[in-house]
Amino acid sequence: MADRPLKELNWKTPLEKAQKPSLNKIAETGICGLMDPISPGVPPGSDVATLALLGYDALKVYSGRGALEAVGSGIDVLASDVCFRCNFATVNENLVVLDRRAGRISNQDASKLTESLQKIKLKKPAKVNFLFRSTLQHRAVLILRGAKLSTAISDADPGRVGEKVQQVKPLNDSLEAKLTSEVVNELVHQFHNVLKNHPLNKERVKHGLPPANMVLCRGAGTIPNIKPLTKIYDIKAACISAAPLVGGVCKVAGMGLIRVEGATGLPQTNYLGKAKEAVNALADYDFVLLHVKAPDVASHDGNVKLKIKVIEEIDKMVGYLLTNVDINSTYLAVTADHTTSLATGEHEGDPVPVAITGPYVRCDDVKEFGERSCTKGGLNRIRGMDLMPILMNLLGKTRKFGA
Ligand SMILES: [Zn+2]
Repeated sequence: MADRPLKELNWKTPLEKAQKPSLNKIAETGICGLMDPISPGVPPGSDVATLALLGYDALKVYSGRGALEAVGSGIDVLASDVCFRCNFATVNENLVVLDRRAGRISNQDASKLTESLQKIKLKKPAKVNFLFRSTLQHRAVLILRGAKLSTAISDADPGRVGEKVQQVKPLNDSLEAKLTSEVVNELVHQFHNVLKNHPLNKERVKHGLPPANMVLCRGAGTIPNIKPLTKIYDIKAACISAAPLVGGVCKVAGMGLIRVEGATGLPQTNYLGKAKEAVNALADYDFVLLHVKAPDVASHDGNVKLKIKVIEEIDKMVGYLLTNVDINSTYLAVTADHTTSLATGEHEGDPVPVAITGPYVRCDDVKEFGERSCTKGGLNRIRGMDLMPILMNLLGKTRKFGA
């Protein structure tokens, strides 16, 4: 949701430009501030940013995005599994990447291709199995399961358009790294062979769409070894998010996942349905995280109008929460997991605004929820991992340090 000022908005940010009476109400009745998801100037991925929002020191516990996304898509990931984050992509005959997202392929097309990929039989090293699953649009996960695997391998994904898909190499001399890189190379090769001849891709080309003829794998990792926050604070916690990555982080943190009919992880989603489920969930849970992916998607696509519109939809959700939650016994915090700049289309290291309202907050003079207005708030500038202790302290769930 957070962004930088834009010339076309008279040097306002989309959040400053949007009509947002309910977000402003939280700022006005609450305590505000700025938050550096990781630390000042560091552009965070959604994986580390979400870990931080749940109170974890991502610099210490982060072990790759693939496993978190896999958990969120419903796969039971084992501690010994090596997981990758993947993209369906478009390459030319020389394996040079033309489109890293295969035209943001639809969930339906991606899942049809996935069915064919999962049927592939690994020729080489026995005793390794693989699971491949598409998650959201062009995103997918690959899980390798076996006794002798390693995360010490390079990426097949060259990271940018115009470059060739890379041969995966072991990053140390271990047999495990050698075996793992061989398996990934074989899979990338077999995936490409199946995809380039797939009838669905032939249809896509006929309709002027880029074929999803490659799977780019990157970021070999494992599930993080963290203590669930439900145990740290002795709370019941749940998450409402259609983004598999966010769901995965929350599940690893011990939270329940609540699915909402019509929630998509895209700008076209069931905003009000999610807010209603959040209110219902508060009857059973101490802490509910309600996540909306839409502003990030709009920013990556450089769509200024859409970003303002989805912020206004989020404001209506917040309005529903404010009228249907007992604010005398509930704390409500609004923030973003990072800044995504419409101008650059990338995550940036600028801090995000944060506001907390509820019975005992030290209300400050800030009246508007925005990147600049919140600089004058009572929270001043906090780190992402500070938010959870602040909320849990307000809820009376923290333990005293010292005696
Ligand atoms: Zn993003």
